[in-house]
Amino acid sequence: MKILFDERQLLHAPLDYFRQGKQIPHPEQPQRAVLLRDALVADGHRLVQPGDHGTGPIKAVHDAGYVDFFETAWERWAAYADGDTIAVPNYHVSHGLNRLPTGIVGQLGYYTTDTACPVTPGTRDAIYWSAQAAIDGAHRLIGGEDLVYSLCRPPGHHASRMNSNGFCFFNNAAIAAHHLRQKFERVMILDIDTHAGQGTQDIFYERGDVFFVSIHVDPSDYPPFFACYADERGRGAGLGASLNIVLDKGTEEPDILAGVDQMVAAAREFQADAVVVSLGFDMATDDPLSELTFSGTGFEGAAARIMALNLPTLLVQEGGYLGPSLANNAVQFLRAAETARRDI
Ligand SMILES: [Zn+2]
Repeated sequence: MKILFDERQLLHAPLDYFRQGKQIPHPEQPQRAVLLRDALVADGHRLVQPGDHGTGPIKAVHDAGYVDFFETAWERWAAYADGDTIAVPNYHVSHGLNRLPTGIVGQLGYYTTDTACPVTPGTRDAIYWSAQAAIDGAHRLIGGEDLVYSLCRPPGHHASRMNSNGFCFFNNAAIAAHHLRQKFERVMILDIDTHAGQGTQDIFYERGDVFFVSIHVDPSDYPPFFACYADERGRGAGLGASLNIVLDKGTEEPDILAGVDQMVAAAREFQADAVVVSLGFDMATDDPLSELTFSGTGFEGAAARIMALNLPTLLVQEGGYLGPSLANNAVQFLRAAETARRDI
């Protein structure tokens, strides 16, 4: 399988963030992508440089001001902070009190919703090329390719139209899904990261042409907290085109795979003609952020179920942190996906 990845995606280098009242090392490290890339190349997959498709496809999903903000955010911050620091806001926008200010601190607080999305010197290039990896994958499906893996890092599914959240800046899967609409009438997003893809849901919540289904830990006491509850089914033209399969903490593999069966059934019912998988590996039992029990065999099972749809499929990397099984779970998922596709 082709792995779309650009070295510049490694340039976003967050140091730490706040959790449980402590400043701890940031889990979304460049090393994640290095591990995934190296393990997959060693398993016979082919590394491919994504083409540069510009900011057009990104701005088709995100607010133009938000996208442009990152062009100069680091330089503006460096001039303001006058030192060797990374850009983290100490103000955030409020419900209803949401004017866009002109200064860098206020704009950081306007566009980022937590302290997990610091802007570092290489953030702009990293998020741009992470998005290009996804766009190029979509472009390839439009051109007739059948199964492609976009090694997106930083991840994307927590980012909404004009907000960064949960390590995510540009919503790679959403950008790819929207891009796929150039050819495919009905696009399905299957989000199997342990965290709900609330940014993706938000982007497509009122659209009926892109169906978003996510399986994740109950957000009532787990990030991203503020959306993706089971009763959220879309609005307006999108009513019925969002589906959230909510798991209790501690849910084990057979029940999770039963949830994946529900996702696949939803895709069949929707009569999707292309699939984007928001592929997180943080459901794995040994993932540092996991609250579930899931193994490499489980990832193989998920891949086989999704591939049974027999649709053009773009795999977009989301979460999955530096636990012992990260690289192996990716190897097993991609191997199972290819095998299933060959067998159809
Ligand atoms: Zn996650």
